[in-house]
This record gives sequence, structure tokens and C-alpha cells, in this order.
Amino acid sequence: MSLNLPLRLPPRRARAASRLHLPRPRRADQAASPLTFRDVAANEAAMNQLRALADYLAHPKKYAALGARLPRGVLLYGPPGTGKTLMARALAGEAGVPFFSLSGSDFVEMYVGVGAARVRELFGRAKRAGRCVIFIDEIDAIGKRRDDGSGSDERDRTLNALLSEMSGFQENSGVIVLAATNRADTLDPALTRPGRFDAKIEVGLPDRRQRLDILRLHCRNKPLAESVDLARLAADTVRFSGASLESLVNDAAIRAARRGGHVIEEADLHAAFVAAVAGEDRPVAAAREELAVVALHEAGHAVACHALLPGHRIERLSILPTTGGAAGYNLTIPAERMLPDLNGLSAQIQVLLAGRAAEQLLYSETNLTAGASGDLSQAAELASTMALDLGMVASPALSLRALSRCAGGGSEGAALVKRLLEDCYQAVSVLLRERADQLEALAARLLEAESLTGREVEAFFADWPA
Ligand code: ADP
Ligand code: MG
Ligand code: ZN
Repeated sequence: MSLNLPLRLPPRRARAASRLHLPRPRRADQAASPLTFRDVAANEAAMNQLRALADYLAHPKKYAALGARLPRGVLLYGPPGTGKTLMARALAGEAGVPFFSLSGSDFVEMYVGVGAARVRELFGRAKRAGRCVIFIDEIDAIGKRRDDGSGSDERDRTLNALLSEMSGFQENSGVIVLAATNRADTLDPALTRPGRFDAKIEVGLPDRRQRLDILRLHCRNKPLAESVDLARLAADTVRFSGASLESLVNDAAIRAARRGGHVIEEADLHAAFVAAVAGEDRPVAAAREELAVVALHEAGHAVACHALLPGHRIERLSILPTTGGAAGYNLTIPAERMLPDLNGLSAQIQVLLAGRAAEQLLYSETNLTAGASGDLSQAAELASTMALDLGMVASPALSLRALSRCAGGGSEGAALVKRLLEDCYQAVSVLLRERADQLEALAARLLEAESLTGREVEAFFADWPA
């Protein structure tokens, strides 16, 4: 496909999905051919958890006999169009139990008391059904944090009704309550307390391999010309969600039908791709360049982490935008209790600064990326802990007494923190320069795959010529 095209950012809102929900609770819709797990591609980690829930729903007695307690509520969170609603329906279909749903957005402008009444009605019907899945879509619309001043009495009443219905369940009653949101960060903490939505499942944007799986799934029943190269389409559709991939394929099928074709040609898919990315303001070339910087940044963290924190396991390395739709990326290292010794803290600071240091090593001109500014503030926080609270400094010239004097955050303290950060930045820059080959190789691999599991990162380092 042509590369002179703007790249699509994640869709702002999954309107199409929420339209599936009628404003009033429907009867459990077993009649419509139920979806199953075979209708879901990608999202492997989330699907594994859902498979366990499906087994529970299908055989609750097996679990009750062993005294196993399952999560009462499960929150699915992630960008729009990643298949949260789809997975909730598929869970019910897979387990062969009824599906009841409500969407939070339907409650937003409602008469007093109506939202709460609907929640109670829904749970009432669900309880009578026995084993079932209850799904609350767009739960952020009713479950927003209340401390931001934007609270409304009606929303509170609806939320309280939901919480009390959930608390009223018998354990092991064979009911699973799922909720979905694009914004897990804005939820009222009351929702995620034990006995409520105490399990959280992240659903992310698909990486390149997952996009291929999703494209294949949605082409399952569509005649494709032999020449069609779905792998290449998967490579070109960076940052597309499952929903955007599905609609791309559908659009191509419509184009093929309209021109009287019998199979979907490469040209139909290409036209659909062009239409999907039209109107985006950033040309693909620029977007790729940006991704290359992001890949280098993340590889910098990983290389430094591998070298300096051998006890830490990297869980995932990714250049895909994270929840919230912002073009972001993440490196996850499991939080491990670090002994607060000088070397350990300094290593952690260096790992935090390594993203920015890697960027500057190869692109001296780049502006500070959003990810880097988050890293810097975390590093600064650690540096002040190190300097002010623990009385640990690289320079023996500064006594503990001097430190406690500047612990109030005076200018002396600020200068100390600054120096610590600068030393760490220097040190990690040297380290990365020494390992520039490794850094570039890892960045290239990350750019290609878009996300790497911890195991893949480990294998990369293990295979690296010593
Ligand atoms: P969300 O609820 O996360 O906004 P949806 O479940 O509404 O996303 O997704 C809309 C449609 O996009 C689905 O019905 C399906 O056709 C397609 N889709 C999204 N994610 C996937 C996926 N992981 N596998 C297969 N199809 C998907
Ligand atoms: Mg949805
Ligand atoms: Zn970073």
C-alpha cells in the first residue's frame, strides 16, 4: 500500500458500538445467534481470563464444591473498538447463559430515579434467570469519580443502586457482572472495592500480528482475490482498533459488490484503507518517524533495565497507544520492593532516564516526548527521596545534617536533586552509547512488532552476542 497516506489515530468514540444498546433493558437475547469466543481474535491475555469465567458460568457447582470464590464483577478497560462489548457477549454465548445489558450513557439525561429503577429491574430479571452475564457498558457515565465536583444526584443514585445490587448477590450464584469503560482512570473508587468490580482486565489496541488475526477473522466468510496480502494490510494499519479493521474489511466488501465484482480485490481493500485514514492530519511518513523515536525510547529503558536492574523482569514493551486514546506507549516492569540503597535508587533513576537518553543519543534534535516528561517527573521524585529523605548522596561532602536542613525543599535541596539527576543521566547515556548496537537492534525489533512480551525481550538479550 502507498505510504503517502495519513495514519489513523484511534477513533475518538465507539459510537457504533454503543448504538447496539437500546435505551431500555432488553430481554436476554438468546434468540439472536449468540457470539462465542471464536468471534474474538487478539486480546489473548483478556481471553484467557474470560475462558476461566466461562468455565465457572458453565459449571458453578464445580467451583462451589471447592469453596472457590470468583470475582463478582469484572471491569474491562481499554481504548474504544478493542472488542470489550464483543467479549462480554461472547462470554455469555460461550457459556450458554443469558446476557443482560445496560449502557451507562443511556442514563445520562434521565428523569429522577429512573436510572436506579432500571438497574434494580435489570438485576431482578437477571437473578430470576439464574446463571447469566450482566453487562454494564460505558460504566464511566454513571461511575465517574464523585470528588470532581461534577457529580449529579441522579448519577449517584444510579451508582448506589448498582453497588447495592452487586453487594446483594449470593456468592457462587452463577452470575458474573461485567462492565466496560474506555477510561478506567476516572472511575469512582467505590466501584473497584472488593466484592464489586474487583477484577480488572485490560484490553489494548492490537499489535501487528494481532491485526492480522483480526483481519483474517473478519475475512473468514468473504471471498478474497488470491493477490490480497492481508499481512501487508496488517502492517499498514498501525493503531487501528479491531472495530476499525472490521469496518475497513466491510467497506472493501461493499466496494467490491458495488463494482459488480465476485471477490474482494487488493484495490478494494486499498480504497477502503485510503478512506479510513483520509482526513488525518499527519502523513504516514511522519507518523512512522514518530514511532521510530518511541521504539528507541522504550528500547532505551529496556537496555538500561537489563544492565542495571538484573532482578527486574520486563513484562511488556510496546509502542502502541495506551488507554485513553493518547499516542502513548509503555514499558512495564513489575514493581518490586527495592532496598533503598544508593545503588538501587540510582539504577532506578537511570532506567527512568534511559528513554530520553536513548532518544538524544540518536536524535539529538527531538523534542521532549510525552512519555519522557512523565519519566522525568518520576525520576525527580525518586531523586528527591534519595537526596532528602534517605540522606543518601553520591557526594560525601554533603553530610546528613546538611541534608536535613534542605529537606524542606529549599534551593539547596533543589540543586542537589538536579545534580543527582544530571549524574544519573550522564551515567546512563554512557551505558547506552556503549550498547548502541544492542539498543538499535532492540528498537528495530520493537518497531517491527509494535509490542514484545517479556519473554521475547528476555530472548533478545539472551541471544545477544556477549
Ligand atoms: P468496544 O466495546 O471495545 O468499544 P466492540 O466490542 O464494540 O469494541 O467492537 C466493535 C466491533 O469491532 C466488534 O463487534 C467486532 O466486529 C470488531 N472487533 C473489535 N475488536 C475485535 C477483536 N478483538 N476481534 C474481532 N473483532 C473485533
Ligand atoms: Mg463497547
Ligand atoms: Zn519512558
